[in-house]
Amino acid sequence: MASTVRFGRTPGSGRGRHRGARLFLVYAAASLVPVSILGLALTRGYHDGGRTQALDQGRAQAAVIEQMAVAPALGGADLSKGLTRGQRERLQSATDLAIFHGSVSRLRLLTFEGTVAFSDDGGVLGSVARDDLSFRAAMGGGVDARIVSVEPGLTGRSIRVLQPVIPEASGRAIGVLEVFLPYDEIAAQVAADTRKAIIRLALGLMSLYAVLALISYVTTRALHRFAADNERQALHDPLTGLANRELFRRVAEQALNRALLRPESSPGGALVLVDLDHFKEVNDNLGHHAGDRLLQIVAQRLSDSLRTDDTVARLGGDEFGIILPGSQRDETVELLARVRRELSEPVTIDHVTLSVEACFGVCFFPDDATTVEGLLQHADAAMYRGKNGPDGVVVYAEGATDAGAASGVDALVMQGELRHALAHDQFVLHYQPKLDMRTGRVSGVEALVRWQHPERGLLPPVAFLPVAERTELIVPLTEWVVRRAVDDLVAWTAAGFDWHVSVNVSARNLSSLVFADTVIDVLESRGVRPHQLCLEVTETAMAFDNQVAASVVAALSDHGIPMSLDDFGVGYTAIAQLRDLAMSEIKIDRLFITGLDDNEQDRAIVGSVIDLAHSLGSTVTAEGVETEAVADWLRSAGCDHGQGYLWSRPLPWTELALADVTDHRGHQDHQDHQDHREATV
Ligand code: C2E
Ligand code: CA
Ligand code: CA
Repeated sequence: MASTVRFGRTPGSGRGRHRGARLFLVYAAASLVPVSILGLALTRGYHDGGRTQALDQGRAQAAVIEQMAVAPALGGADLSKGLTRGQRERLQSATDLAIFHGSVSRLRLLTFEGTVAFSDDGGVLGSVARDDLSFRAAMGGGVDARIVSVEPGLTGRSIRVLQPVIPEASGRAIGVLEVFLPYDEIAAQVAADTRKAIIRLALGLMSLYAVLALISYVTTRALHRFAADNERQALHDPLTGLANRELFRRVAEQALNRALLRPESSPGGALVLVDLDHFKEVNDNLGHHAGDRLLQIVAQRLSDSLRTDDTVARLGGDEFGIILPGSQRDETVELLARVRRELSEPVTIDHVTLSVEACFGVCFFPDDATTVEGLLQHADAAMYRGKNGPDGVVVYAEGATDAGAASGVDALVMQGELRHALAHDQFVLHYQPKLDMRTGRVSGVEALVRWQHPERGLLPPVAFLPVAERTELIVPLTEWVVRRAVDDLVAWTAAGFDWHVSVNVSARNLSSLVFADTVIDVLESRGVRPHQLCLEVTETAMAFDNQVAASVVAALSDHGIPMSLDDFGVGYTAIAQLRDLAMSEIKIDRLFITGLDDNEQDRAIVGSVIDLAHSLGSTVTAEGVETEAVADWLRSAGCDHGQGYLWSRPLPWTELALADVTDHRGHQDHQDHQDHREATV
């Protein structure tokens, strides 16, 4: 089972996971930076905050002492003249309480000259230098608080506050109050608070970091998965899960390069293109849902029937690609024949049983081409040859032409050209006679369209009909064919030829009842009777429970226009379905006719189709009659009409009228049945 690509990991996903881990680490490291900076800033802030708080506390305490104790005790005293004993005692008792509580370690009153007028220890010695900045600030009316270390007579650091003393009565400063508060205790308290806050902060920051890391982990993973999904989608077909064209190219490129660079260890292999037959009909008749389902089944079957190292890809539409590394010629053809058989096992979709036929075009690398482009071209050419021939698996052979394949760009160009051709009357009809096998005479002709291309000459239908059928252009083209065929019929009838005319109709024409009206209008406007026209619809267009197509066909045949089932035998029609289709004529595909004389099986098939058709009231026409032997056999088997190169290739009707198209043996055998005018020279 070719599982490498279908179910395997997206190439590069291991690398992607690594990239994801690295990306996460980068995120984690990057988010650590702002978190740390935030932590440092906040810690510093706490420290500074502790100091400021201590100083503010000192200032507040000094203010309280000044207002509540010192100023009231001094009354209207003049410090420069010294204090009275009474004043001193009042001061002493007013400040004692604070000193006693230990919230103040020293308190002094200073004169403006800097001498000590009062000290809580009772002494009046010592002075303050006049250039002491704090003292000068207090003399100027301000309050100064700062932390000072080691003051004589005090232990540890202190907060020293200087502030003017303003007794209530005067409202004027009379001196300076100097207060020392023990700082170490406050500092220890502040430090303890700060520590606690920092621990809380650290915990907070750590959880913040953890959340950030988690978020970044989750987002990187999601991003990584998203990228991997994108990569998968870019390289896989969403409908079937197979590799897409891009991945197919890459795998082909790798296999080809290995074969070119290391031929000893990688001896090359096969590149295969697969195209389903009649997929368009499945889509048109059963709907897109059924088409999609069919593609999924095909994808599954292809994957299941190949080996692990093989790659299966859906290249678009109903086209698949396979790379078989190391596969040699004989084994490849054998393998693909088996794959093709397994693919063609009947499938049932929406109650309709189909068999999936496909063409395989094969080329080998590096022998056939040394570029992927070249390989694709060759496999494509082989596949198109397969489409037009009897073999389902076709190996590319040098020199075989690549005609028939209209690539995407060509198809677009051709659409434009086809429109132009319709507008400028570049189509022509050739007619191939249909002979009555009993009388040997021409009973009708089939209109086959050609394009008289201004540069490329006369083009056969296979060169442009596929593009017309893929687009709506087939509708006006068929309309043109019907008009021209009926006009020509009028002309040859006037010239004395009693031929009816058959026109080929595409599946798409049967998708609207408008078509029936158009045909009936053309007949009526030319005064042609309905039975003189015959419409050929392919078996595949009618194969399914297609209600619209069935009603269009019914409308036409109700009007008296004979309907013919073309290419019978290559499509899906079960014999039983034939009964419901009520066809006037069944045309057996030339695939069964050409080799009739030496193929027992084909003879058995054709024989029973003739019998069956007769039992259903239809006539039988054999297409592709090329030899007398085949014609003889058909006549003996009771086939009603024959068509083929034995009698005539398709020609403009005027040339046909001049040629003597008659089967003389048939003619002689049935001289007495001559009741029609012959085509004579
Ligand atoms: P078909 O309807 O099966 O037409 C018969 C094809 O077989 C014609 O090819 C004809 O030239 C070819 N043929 C006839 N006798 C022999 C023979 O003895 N041996 C061989 N090998 N071939 C023979 P042609 O003209 O190239 O047409 C190909 C197909 O294109 C037709 O197949 C038909 O399906 C389609 N086609 C042609 N004209 C029209 C048209 O106006 N409208 C539509 N929708 N399809 C058309
Ligand atoms: Ca036909
Ligand atoms: Ca045919």
